[in-house]
Amino acid sequence: NAPARDRLRIAIQKNGRLAEPARSLLTACGLSWRQSRDKLFCYGESLPVDLLLVRDDDIPGLIADGVCDFGIVGRNELDEQGAARRRIGLPDAYQALRGLNFGQCRLMLAVPDEWEWTGVEQLAGKRIATSYPAILADWLAARGVDAQVVELSGSVEIAPRLGTADLICDLVSSGATLAANQLKPVETLLESEAVLAGPVKTPDDARAGLMAMLLRRLDGVVKVQD
Ligand code: ATP
Ligand code: ZN
Repeated sequence: NAPARDRLRIAIQKNGRLAEPARSLLTACGLSWRQSRDKLFCYGESLPVDLLLVRDDDIPGLIADGVCDFGIVGRNELDEQGAARRRIGLPDAYQALRGLNFGQCRLMLAVPDEWEWTGVEQLAGKRIATSYPAILADWLAARGVDAQVVELSGSVEIAPRLGTADLICDLVSSGATLAANQLKPVETLLESEAVLAGPVKTPDDARAGLMAMLLRRLDGVVKVQD
């Protein structure tokens, strides 16, 4: 059990697609920090709410361990780590509390352009490269498809050309990256966007009030942006 704290900690991406929109959103909620843009830690000024700037992959774990109270992360990342925990029998440790209306993308299966796509039965015995092995394995299992999941941490889209996989399962927004690699999207596994993630159990100290207040402000701000 994490110790009691009287300041809230929110983890956001340090660099990358979600970094700037996450910070702007929290600023719109009335938060401000002492200027330390290049640091890992930003001390909250207007309210006792501090920021932790990290890699997006680390955000679910920071919430699970009680190091952070909230995090802004793609639903894709949160679901993947949640699915991975469940696969090894760990209990749920975080949840998506709010959709934030930015960072939209889809987790999709994409096959070489020359394939004629007829359906998931086609995947039997195929090798699928992905950075989302747990979501993909669950999706395949739910459809009774026996395919091989090849886990890659990056550059998934070149795997078919390299011969390390037959097709891929990756995030798609415009589809330009797929097209540039002679791939076409055929199935959607997940519609994703940035979410506010929090623990399954709210802490019973000073943070509870801060968390409720922040959620209220967020609801006002995200609605207006809609
Ligand atoms: P980090 O260094 O923090 O690990 P990263 O390379 O994993 O960064 P980004 O590429 O910045 O992450 O993407 C962060 C999130 O942005 C993704 O997890 C996803 O939710 C969202 N996103 C939106 N569109 C796309 C896209 N076209 N490709 C990848 N991610 C996207
Ligand atoms: Zn990442």
